[in-house]
Amino acid sequence: MEKTDIKNLTLSGLEAFISGLGKERFRAKQIFKWLYQMDAMDFDEMTNVSKEFRAVLKERAEISNLSPEAVEASEDGTRKYLFRLKDGAAVESVLIPDEGRNTLCISSQVGCAMQCAFCLTGTFGLSRNLTTSEIVNQVCAVKREHPVNNIVFMGMGEPLANLSAVIPAVQILTDPDGFQLSTRKVTVSTSGLVPEMAELGRGCTVNLAVSLNATTDEVRDRIMPVNRAYPLKELLAACKAFPLPSRRWITIEYVMIRDLNDTLDDAKRLVRLISNIPSKVNLIPFNEHDGCAFKSPTQETIDRFHKYLLDKHVTVITRSSRGGDISAACGQLKGKLDQMQKD
Ligand code: SAH
Ligand code: SF4
Repeated sequence: MEKTDIKNLTLSGLEAFISGLGKERFRAKQIFKWLYQMDAMDFDEMTNVSKEFRAVLKERAEISNLSPEAVEASEDGTRKYLFRLKDGAAVESVLIPDEGRNTLCISSQVGCAMQCAFCLTGTFGLSRNLTTSEIVNQVCAVKREHPVNNIVFMGMGEPLANLSAVIPAVQILTDPDGFQLSTRKVTVSTSGLVPEMAELGRGCTVNLAVSLNATTDEVRDRIMPVNRAYPLKELLAACKAFPLPSRRWITIEYVMIRDLNDTLDDAKRLVRLISNIPSKVNLIPFNEHDGCAFKSPTQETIDRFHKYLLDKHVTVITRSSRGGDISAACGQLKGKLDQMQKD
């Protein structure tokens, strides 16, 4: 019989699994704590679980793990982890230290099917979805080396195209018996899959970031094919309807690309588009990469755009590019996909 990878299970999934083995459900909480608070790698570490039940668990279940195949450190403290998965595929996670707290940017898919014109991950297409355990194991592995205070699903992949693994992963990350992260410290980013936004909101409590990146359907259609299925009007209505954790706002990500979406008219339209959504704007100057002709705007253009939003009382930050020297910046992650495609 194939063993169950128990890191694929949420607490309630583990409870069901354990009662299926004829044991009390409350054992699940103990095991969950061993996995995510004590980082147990073997059932024998679980000393408050009886020896005989550990033997049953070992027979029926396994504890999966990831360890980085390579770690690159940037001059600015950003660290990029490459994880090789069981089937040989690879994904990356990026740890970004900032003012004493560490944000971990994790991947949800190997590659991505969404084909955004500015994104390197998108150019490789989708290889496959990650499992829940492959998502949470990125966090387990990095936490072994550094504290992790904040998690963003902004690595490789479109998390909302993999909700059946992402929702359980968010539940494990935010479970008081799991990783114990506040729901305010976990953010899922989407390119704008409208029906899945509602499904995410129903399935878990989490912050939402939306990659808007354009202020007209015409431009958004061009750079984000998803817009042809779910145009701006529908996307913004879905943002407005999203059930956020209390006192939170939606993060509107806006990748600024020279001469494409960086004018003051864009800034004006942006203010109008988000006026009735509790939101903050993250301006992300386009990170240039080979294979894409887009350019980053001049600093002056970025500053002007930023100031316009501020003057209109929009909460805005311009994200400084982090980890550029190790290709760890937004939209530069590619794992070893290029290599794999050649193999
Ligand atoms: N698929 C999800 C999450 C991963 S992408 C999404 O699209 O939201 C994370 C962020 O990186 C998105 O906001 C995306 O717009 C941005 N991004 C992609 N390529 C980029 C690039 N070359 N420069 C700057 N930001 C980029
Ligand atoms: Fe996929 Fe996000 Fe990149 Fe678009 S920006 S191709 S959705 S990872």
